[in-house]
Amino acid sequence: MDISELSARLSSGRLFHAYIVTGADADTRLRAGKLLAQAAVCQAERGVPCGVCRDCVKAKRDIHPDIEIVRREKENAGHTVDTMRALRARAAVLPNEAKRGAHIIDDADFMNIQAQNAMLKVLEEPPEHAVFVLLADNPQRLLETVRSRCETVSLNPEQTVLDPKLTDIARELADAFDRRDAFGVVKAAQPVEKLGKTELFDLMTALRRETLGRAGRLSASDAERLMEAADSGDKLINANIKGGYVAGELIARLIQP
Ligand SMILES: [Zn+2]
Repeated sequence: MDISELSARLSSGRLFHAYIVTGADADTRLRAGKLLAQAAVCQAERGVPCGVCRDCVKAKRDIHPDIEIVRREKENAGHTVDTMRALRARAAVLPNEAKRGAHIIDDADFMNIQAQNAMLKVLEEPPEHAVFVLLADNPQRLLETVRSRCETVSLNPEQTVLDPKLTDIARELADAFDRRDAFGVVKAAQPVEKLGKTELFDLMTALRRETLGRAGRLSASDAERLMEAADSGDKLINANIKGGYVAGELIARLIQP
């Protein structure tokens, strides 16, 4: 999945106590980890992270007191058992502001066996108010017992295969937009009305891929408009807005001069 899919899943699913984020590159894993942390501290009852509450705002600015990132002390050193014991002690304490504290462990696959066993003790009986996010390039280096207690978030490259019906709609939308054909945009958006939530999310992914696939053939501002239309669509879908309105939003964004 990519970050927008993770965001969509978070807002419609439940939050787990522990995650392993794997795949992609270190920066993307960290972004995904921060998104999970934000969801953990968000005040909203559902649809986390809401993006607008006090805790979300602090999380986005990287100044939330209840979100910590545990990094290796040195590039070539692993996490030690002492680091993990200290983490365990901090996680046991109630958070300062949010209902949950989030603990992101960078390069979690660089825990040695003792450190992993210390981590395992935490995962076996996680404090109610703590969420752990293990970032790992190579999760195979983690103990099976650790992995089995975490929800795994696998980021791209493995791209999800999308329904061709949806990639067709995305292509027709982009084509009509490219031609400045307002009627064509309206026509291409028509089947969007009947799509369910998952299909709508996939359509936005298809629209992004379609845009990226046209790199060089679209002007930068046109590519941006298509991307913004997809982002805006995601927001509506996240808020459980029905297909008809999502279609309307796409039309409004793509037929402006
Ligand atoms: Zn929030």
